[in-house]
Amino acid sequence: MMYNLLQYLLHLPVGLVWLIFLVENAMITCGVLLLGRYFYKGGYTAREWGICAITNILNTVVTYGGFWLWKQGGIKVSMEGSWRVLVDFVLLFVAMDLLMYVFHIVIHKTFLYKVVHQLHHEAVDPKPIDLFVLHPVETMGFGSLWLLLLVVYGFNIYAIIIYLVVNVIFGLAGHLGVEPLPAKVRQWPLVKYLGTSTFHHDHHRDIQHNFGFYTSVWDRLFNTYR
Ligand SMILES: [Zn+2]
Ligand SMILES: [Zn+2]
Repeated sequence: MMYNLLQYLLHLPVGLVWLIFLVENAMITCGVLLLGRYFYKGGYTAREWGICAITNILNTVVTYGGFWLWKQGGIKVSMEGSWRVLVDFVLLFVAMDLLMYVFHIVIHKTFLYKVVHQLHHEAVDPKPIDLFVLHPVETMGFGSLWLLLLVVYGFNIYAIIIYLVVNVIFGLAGHLGVEPLPAKVRQWPLVKYLGTSTFHHDHHRDIQHNFGFYTSVWDRLFNTYR
């Protein structure tokens, strides 16, 4: 099915493919903001909407970049639905968590903080739209890391899709503004090591700690966990 879909895109005019990817990104953003409304009742400023729109356009550039690289043979994906879906998903989850941890530390501890990342930290108490309130350099940095990983290794296409969904869920969770999980659940064996709403909210409150996204594993390992 995925194979047919990708083949179909190949035969469409380039402009239409761009439009499809833009609509896809906009729909993901709408989904995040609609789900977010359930938790955050306040409104957003025109400036936040503007930055959110720019982030969507840049995410579309990254999406098209991935499609283009696949078309050129730079990114290879396996299409079969087998045990590789699970293995590749775990690989993507762990690898991106580590890469983003390192990238996040770099944009905090260098001149890049003031120039790039401070924008995201204007929110001391994050709200759903803050997931998209990112400096263009930051959006492209995360996007490049993502495409680089896909070039290095040919992941399973279903693992990629599941990962992308999970990525959005964690992104939304981190900027919900409230903690939906009861304290007891957050102490469960595996959940304990996941990047919960509280985990990323605490990063906005104290920028010296909690640089991870999906897990607190790297923060625990490198002593930046709070
Ligand atoms: Zn940060
Ligand atoms: Zn954040």
